[in-house]
Amino acid sequence: MSTTVSGVDPAVLRARLDRARSAAADAGVDALLIPPGSDLRYLIGGSGTSFERLTCLVLPAGDRPPVLVLPKLEAPGYAAIPFDDLGLEASAWVDGEDPYALVAGMLGRPTVVALGDVMPALHVLGLRGAVPGAEQRLAGPVLRELRMRKDATEIAALREAGAAIDRVHARMSEFLRAGRTEAEVGADIAAAIVAEGHVRAEFVIVGSGPNGASPHHAVSDRVIEAGDVVVIDIGGPVAGGYNSDSTRTFAVGEPRDADVPATYAVLRDAQRAAVAAVRPGVPAQHVDGVARAIISDAGFGKYFIHRTGHGIGLDVHEDPYIVSGNDLALEPGMAFSVEPGIYLPGRWGARIEDIVVVTQDGVESLNNRPHELVVLPG
Ligand code: ZN
Ligand code: ZN
Ligand code: ZN
Repeated sequence: MSTTVSGVDPAVLRARLDRARSAAADAGVDALLIPPGSDLRYLIGGSGTSFERLTCLVLPAGDRPPVLVLPKLEAPGYAAIPFDDLGLEASAWVDGEDPYALVAGMLGRPTVVALGDVMPALHVLGLRGAVPGAEQRLAGPVLRELRMRKDATEIAALREAGAAIDRVHARMSEFLRAGRTEAEVGADIAAAIVAEGHVRAEFVIVGSGPNGASPHHAVSDRVIEAGDVVVIDIGGPVAGGYNSDSTRTFAVGEPRDADVPATYAVLRDAQRAAVAAVRPGVPAQHVDGVARAIISDAGFGKYFIHRTGHGIGLDVHEDPYIVSGNDLALEPGMAFSVEPGIYLPGRWGARIEDIVVVTQDGVESLNNRPHELVVLPG
């Protein structure tokens, strides 16, 4: 298994565990049960990747100490976790023992337990059988209240990630040329993502020509042609685990389609206006509405087929979502993408994406490459 330990100050982790406990109590939850993943990493500073053997942080809402239940053979992967500083106990089990009974024994007689959103169904049902009287809920709604309000250290990590991905976009003329396939360009970009300071490339979208009209296209063997518009959406985690995610749209030589400049200008105006609308107190959906109104007024509303943005941190997609219907009031420390797009089926697509952070009185953009269509040599 691979374990990642983020090097977060133990005092910060201890405060997160305490806040998670009291948030659980406020929500009427007796205990949080958190499997490996970004929630676990957020709370204890590291996480492994075990699947069928139960690893689970048992975090009671009351004063009983938190316990990391884990398979004994996985224990070395958690050796760097500062158990003592966190007041965290470890309880290892071996193959043949029943880990669900072990967890049940720690819980007493709970009425409500909240399970981490990514817990495998295998364990959800195993725990249901071991604690049959307890209602199971998702832990996500409890933990997102913590995770979407980022502290200065988290913002600094996101800023570092943003600068690193900006450096990759700045090098695009090295990679993106007519006559190469999307996959070839994507492989070079993935290497550059690592070379510029990421741990790995989490995703690489090279959407050339008609493929750009599919927002989550990855790469294909399509050969890029002179005159293509190409959507490049790239990102990955830096050492602390915080992610970058930025999109720029390029043209390989002067764009073939005469509609590109005017259509792109609508998108640029929409993205700029949406970023400018970000400040504390503004509902998340207002930012979406600003972008959507500009694109719709220009006649492209039906070609903007996704929400305007998503929160980002230890996960590439997390709360808060910048979407119609989300009336959450933005607060300082919230970090999310602003990424409207226009997708013309069978023709081409364009998207502009920056990660922004809500400040005390406005907004800071963590991506700072130019927003104009970048015309590369064909
Ligand atoms: Zn996406
Ligand atoms: Zn993206
Ligand atoms: Zn994104």
